[in-house]
Amino acid sequence: QAKSEGGGCVRFFQPEMRQHTERKVLMLERLQRALAQGRFELHYQLQFALDDLHISGLEALLRWQDEELGRLAPDEFIPVAIEYGLMPAIDLWVLRRACMDNRLLIDSECLDVPMAVNIGSQLFQQPDFAERVRDILSEVGLPGQRLELEVTETGAVQDAQVVTENIRLLKRLGVSIAMDDFGTGFSSLLRLRRLAFDRLKIDRSFVRALPSASDQAIVQAALAIAASLELEVIAEGVETAEQLDYLRRCGCAYGQGFWFARPMPLQVLRRHLVLSA
Ligand code: C2E
Ligand code: MG
Ligand code: MG
Ligand code: MG
Repeated sequence: QAKSEGGGCVRFFQPEMRQHTERKVLMLERLQRALAQGRFELHYQLQFALDDLHISGLEALLRWQDEELGRLAPDEFIPVAIEYGLMPAIDLWVLRRACMDNRLLIDSECLDVPMAVNIGSQLFQQPDFAERVRDILSEVGLPGQRLELEVTETGAVQDAQVVTENIRLLKRLGVSIAMDDFGTGFSSLLRLRRLAFDRLKIDRSFVRALPSASDQAIVQAALAIAASLELEVIAEGVETAEQLDYLRRCGCAYGQGFWFARPMPLQVLRRHLVLSA
């Protein structure tokens, strides 16, 4: 109790709060430096068609290992980057690097599939976002058909007008749009249709417990919504043969997860592809 400690002052600031803030400030400094020096890495996770298990795509996932802070998971540092407005710049860095790496995979005849890149809502809501994408594609020489952008439900609905216009312009470039973490937000069917997505990614929280009954219902509902809106569906977080089996029987066309492949650095991916060819 603040009072019994004497002096009559109230301690609002607990020691663990100060530690938390100090760590955040340090993280912010290190993030700014990593961005300025291009010190992030990308890992790539393969996506598969469930019928014949051919590789249908790739997803770029951000990785950060800092000299002082060590290796941090995206779920730890992305919220800090968002809070301090750094995420749009980081996402643009990821976008350019992922497009370059996909160009390299195509040129080396390793793999020729679309590359999916996660885009935070801050960037997706910028009015010039589609133009930035067009510039990166032409700079790298990657056809728009070889790029897919993933945005979450909640990310897409905040400034629906700008987002809708960006999606329209992106689709004219041949870029496809996926709704990530489907089922965790609050989209109405009307909004889903208006935003003109190409694909839904069923969140891995619903795949995890398959084939438990309640998750079956959610997955089947997602598949029915996708079918009625003529959207493709990919299930994320497929970890077991049972989950794969179930999804396949339900008619889910695509899957991604540890059962198929973990996210890996470009060089490891290339070796993997050469060896399995
Ligand atoms: P997400 O886009 O939904 O990505 C899927 C996450 O699930 C990734 O975590 C991936 O490593 C993980 N994962 C894939 N297969 C499995 C599996 O079978 N089991 C389990 N348990 N996990 C699996 P990661 O790489 O830690 O990324 C977490 C989230 O951070 C991503 O979720 C995405 O929302 C965000 N993120 C990652 N990279 C970027 C980026 O470049 N930009 C933005 N804006 N967000 C990013
Ligand atoms: Mg994603
Ligand atoms: Mg996801
Ligand atoms: Mg997720």
